[in-house]
Amino acid sequence: MSDKWNRKADVVVLGMGAAGCAAAIAATDAGASVILLEKMPEGREGGNTRISGGIWYNSLDPNGMAVYLRSLCGPYALPEGIVQVWAEETYKNTEWLESLGVTPGVHADYKPEYPELPGAEFYGGYLGVKGEMGQQLLWKALSAAVRDRGVEVLLDTPAKELVTDSDGVVTGVVASSGGQPLRVEARRGVVLATGGFENNPEMVRDYLRLPGSPVWGSPAGTGDGIKMAQKAGADLWHMDNMMATLGLAADGFEAGMYVMFIFSQGFICVGNDGRRPHNEIPPQGHGHGLIEGDYELFQRRPLHVVFDEAARLAGPISPPKEILPVGWNLLMEGYEWSVDNSAEIEKGWIQKGDTPAELAEKLGTDPDALEASVASWNEACAAGHDPLGRPEPTLTPLETPPYYGFTSAPLLGWTNGGPRRNEKAQVLDPFGEVIARLYAAGTVSSTYSWCKDGGFHIGDALAFGRVAGRNAAAEPPL
Ligand SMILES: Cc1cc2nc3c(=O)[nH]c(=O)nc-3n(C[C@H](O)[C@H](O)[C@H](O)COP(=O)(O)OP(=O)(O)OC[C@H]3O[C@@H](n4cnc5c(N)ncnc54)[C@H](O)[C@@H]3O)c2cc1C
Repeated sequence: MSDKWNRKADVVVLGMGAAGCAAAIAATDAGASVILLEKMPEGREGGNTRISGGIWYNSLDPNGMAVYLRSLCGPYALPEGIVQVWAEETYKNTEWLESLGVTPGVHADYKPEYPELPGAEFYGGYLGVKGEMGQQLLWKALSAAVRDRGVEVLLDTPAKELVTDSDGVVTGVVASSGGQPLRVEARRGVVLATGGFENNPEMVRDYLRLPGSPVWGSPAGTGDGIKMAQKAGADLWHMDNMMATLGLAADGFEAGMYVMFIFSQGFICVGNDGRRPHNEIPPQGHGHGLIEGDYELFQRRPLHVVFDEAARLAGPISPPKEILPVGWNLLMEGYEWSVDNSAEIEKGWIQKGDTPAELAEKLGTDPDALEASVASWNEACAAGHDPLGRPEPTLTPLETPPYYGFTSAPLLGWTNGGPRRNEKAQVLDPFGEVIARLYAAGTVSSTYSWCKDGGFHIGDALAFGRVAGRNAAAEPPL
């Protein structure tokens, strides 16, 4: 590869989400010159951070949160150095955001999702910009802080490849600008902050075993940073971890739609055999549910979701912006789900049948088994006891035809896996050696090996984004 560079900076940051913004800000504040390369054009940049709830978790005590993180990892322990830095740095998130001019506020009264685990008492709930959720507020504040510092931001400039010297040291990046290669030298380091791989169907199939899941967030997370890191020799971690949930594909839209039965609990989920595999509403956190006594990925497999006319009329099965202002289709495409779900039935996103058996034919599940599942569900509701353990207040029968349903693939919120890194955010090769001058932060290389609580992902992206930015800035110049 030619050693001629089109541009030079001390630190080159890839991606303009929470991790990339935090890295760019920290590197600049440490005195480095920074170029930030962002794949998407103006108006579409910012990744999942932009369309997220923008919530970071409130740490009441770093030592206590270290205990909680260890508990959440369960059998998939993290290196102790990572736990310590995560706990110390996420504790500093609020103060750091305040230093950028953000006014933090408590968002509602959120409790830990895993209250029984050691350390849960140090989880202090949700913080958001002025206490608000979503609406792009956090991303706007972060990107404004990047711009205020004079960071050179190149939009519509996807990074394609890392440049390494003969010793494997990362010296820069080749990006694409206007269809032409743009070679950017990184005199001190490169920070990968390109988000997840949820929009890369091949990777989703191979690592998560989900065939054809629609995505809740930005279409930009196609695993680019993971592949670039692999080519530079990186090991991978947490590739089989994710957050997925009930949702459906929305033809004609880039992303899928989240589903949550908030106005009526009258729904059941069945597999391809027409049977309910488990309680649909187990104790659960962000991406995990208590199934058969263990926390498992949840939703982890395709399920058919069935409800009746009473549930349809109770209200939208996809929370509107006024209730949950998050997601690509709501915030970026302005999609408004119909109040009585009729528009989505008309579009064919939701199927309809006069009987459970007729609906089953349309969903591609067993008609006799679905008839039987609805009948035994109704019996359980009448008896006030579900053999699969569904909470008593949610035992709402499905007795009012017609019946409705859709297949939840499920909806993929985000992935967690990517290049393995150490507590300094340096990317490691398969033998634990540092790949010199290559850093990673945020979803491209998330800290989480297993369970995670609300606000953990933004928290992690901000924390290790800062670590990556300041450590890259501290490298001796080439
Ligand atoms: C609907 C939704 C709600 C959520 N709500 C919350 C919440 O409230 N709290 C929480 O903690 N977590 C939440 N999450 C998860 C959280 O948003 C993400 O984990 C976090 O924002 C990831 O930040 P990031 O910077 O690592 O990646 P991203 O924010 O995804 O940013 C990655 C950036 O890299 C860019 N990029 C990609 N490829 C390239 C390339 N080749 N070259 C250059 N740039 C590239 C992308 O365009 C993007 O700008 C939510 C996620 C979703 C989908």
